[in-house]
Amino acid sequence: MKTKTVLISGAGVAGLSVAYWLKRFGFVPTLIEKHPCLRTGGYKIDLRGAGLEVLKRMGVYPAISESRTKNTRGVLLDETGRQIMEMSVDLLGTRLEGVDLEIMRSTLCHILKDAVKEEECIFGDSITRISDRNDSVHVEFEKHPSRTFDLVIGADGLHSKVRKLVFGEESNFSQDLGIYVSVWGFPNFLNLNDCEIEQHTLQKFVNLYRDRKSTQATAAIAFSTPKLCHSRDPKDLQQYIAEVFAGSKWENFPKILAGLANSPDFYFDSMAQIHMPYWHKGRVALVGDAAYSATPLSGQGTSIAIAGAYVLAGELFEAHGDSAIAFSQYEALMRPFIKKNQELAAMSLRIMKGSAYSKWVHRIGALMPAKLVDFFKKRALKQTTKAANALRLKDYEKNR
Ligand SMILES: Cc1cc2nc3c(=O)[nH]c(=O)nc-3n(C[C@H](O)[C@H](O)[C@H](O)COP(=O)(O)OP(=O)(O)OC[C@H]3O[C@@H](n4cnc5c(N)ncnc54)[C@H](O)[C@@H]3O)c2cc1C
Repeated sequence: MKTKTVLISGAGVAGLSVAYWLKRFGFVPTLIEKHPCLRTGGYKIDLRGAGLEVLKRMGVYPAISESRTKNTRGVLLDETGRQIMEMSVDLLGTRLEGVDLEIMRSTLCHILKDAVKEEECIFGDSITRISDRNDSVHVEFEKHPSRTFDLVIGADGLHSKVRKLVFGEESNFSQDLGIYVSVWGFPNFLNLNDCEIEQHTLQKFVNLYRDRKSTQATAAIAFSTPKLCHSRDPKDLQQYIAEVFAGSKWENFPKILAGLANSPDFYFDSMAQIHMPYWHKGRVALVGDAAYSATPLSGQGTSIAIAGAYVLAGELFEAHGDSAIAFSQYEALMRPFIKKNQELAAMSLRIMKGSAYSKWVHRIGALMPAKLVDFFKKRALKQTTKAANALRLKDYEKNR
């Protein structure tokens, strides 16, 4: 196989994973990340099914297992902050106990970066132009001089630049779910140690947690509101969140909100799924959120990004670097799996949005006996586990 140089845009979960596998399969990957350093931040993410199996094959499972979150109790609060019930934290997070793992996104990014450490990684720059010349791809950057690569992979997330440059505007492929998500740190005045707190009120979801390596606690919220916010300035966004949650009946909530202004890892985005008729064009392919964002509502965004990275690199290896064959095969293998996992978001979406159904769930939900909540949680767990495992991973190194 002629050595293939591959430029990967985005050093997030998908970009780091695909860089690792490309290198292992004999390619020469280069990562370009627009952030000046590894972009950490974000909340806890779940790892399960095919994505977790890929991490095992990478040899990073022991590090992930060691660094995983280790909460045991999950507590549900009503709108006033009163405890309604308690359950195992794995059931609360729809995780198969003893099998699925939960880890802070930033910890996972560091572990993946360590695994690809000797690769070239250019921070603080972004692609501005991609010219596919049939036998190579010429790429121009904001800051660095232009270069030529054999292939380009867009792993640059929900608002992918590669997708925009090669496939078209985001609005052509993005299905906005009408829900915002935000994450920030706040002083651990609630003494969160082995316990995670969740509060579901109409169109608003709050989850509170403390990473055992941090003295601070972290808040993750998701909400749906007719009042839109078009600014992406952190100050405007923080003001906007404070306004949306101003009516909270939980007396502790203003103190949690106060952390917004001082949180260096403040994260905010709208939830959108990406649906594209194809994920490759010529010598350019997309992976992870850039190609098939499933949103945090699915609980599967990170696992499918890792699985996709493995399949994309593996198919390139199996096709001896022939991108036309490899990219088609990548899509054929991944599409049914992605469809099942994107569909997981549908139920949470119905509950989050202000439909009659959602009002019913919230009214009954507050009065629901623990056994019934347990039943619905276990049913969701079954569906999630099925979708997470709906991909047979090839052993690309079998005949090496
Ligand atoms: C800071 C942050 C926090 C997050 N927090 C959560 C969370 O709390 N819960 C959750 O479920 N999901 C979260 N996500 C999304 C989650 O990481 C992804 O859904 C999933 O891991 C798939 O990863 P990805 O690599 O495809 O995309 P991402 O993780 O979004 O990674 C994309 C990477 O590409 C980089 N990038 C973007 N544009 C360019 C460009 N033009 N040029 C070069 N690089 C670029 C980004 O800086 C980022 O490093 C977060 C993402 C980010 C970036």
